[in-house]
Amino acid sequence: MSGMQNPDFTRIGRRLFNEGLVGGNFGNMSIRSDNGYLITRSGSYLDDAGELIRVIPGEPVPKGASSEYRVHEAIYRETEHDAIVHAHPSCAVAASLLMDQIIPIDSEGEMLCPEISVVEGVPGSQELAENCADILKKSNLVIARGHGTFAAAKTIDEAYLFTSLAEHASRVLFYTGHFTKNPDAHREIVKQ
Ligand SMILES: [Zn+2]
Repeated sequence: MSGMQNPDFTRIGRRLFNEGLVGGNFGNMSIRSDNGYLITRSGSYLDDAGELIRVIPGEPVPKGASSEYRVHEAIYRETEHDAIVHAHPSCAVAASLLMDQIIPIDSEGEMLCPEISVVEGVPGSQELAENCADILKKSNLVIARGHGTFAAAKTIDEAYLFTSLAEHASRVLFYTGHFTKNPDAHREIVKQ
């Protein structure tokens, strides 16, 4: 049921903290495993992830699993991704409150994630889970409005990179005055 540790989680957790992509005991991470997935504990610090919880879809969710397990479960069910990082990067969260679609203008953003969708849903809810999984079928990145990023990829390192990319792209948009509540104006600005 548990008792699993994974040094990659702590290593990536430290990076998330050092880059200011997550604070306090927020955020969570998981990887796909044989018949389910391994997820961080509810309330754990990502830079000291400790024991992971094994969740097997269809079986009762063990006590202690991250409260955001529904999103992770829906992503593993609906997509090919094998690892998920959920963080609260502040500039990306700010961007998600103003825009429905974040269109990066920095070179990495344009290349790796030319559009970042923003979805609705209360934290921990099935609605959020379905909305995130739907976007991640064709993307590595989605932002829950006013909440945080869900990045999914082949490895936890890759999911972390997409998390970092979301924050970098959002900062560049902010520094260049491209934060706007009007989606059409945002699209016009980034086309110039
Ligand atoms: Zn969260």
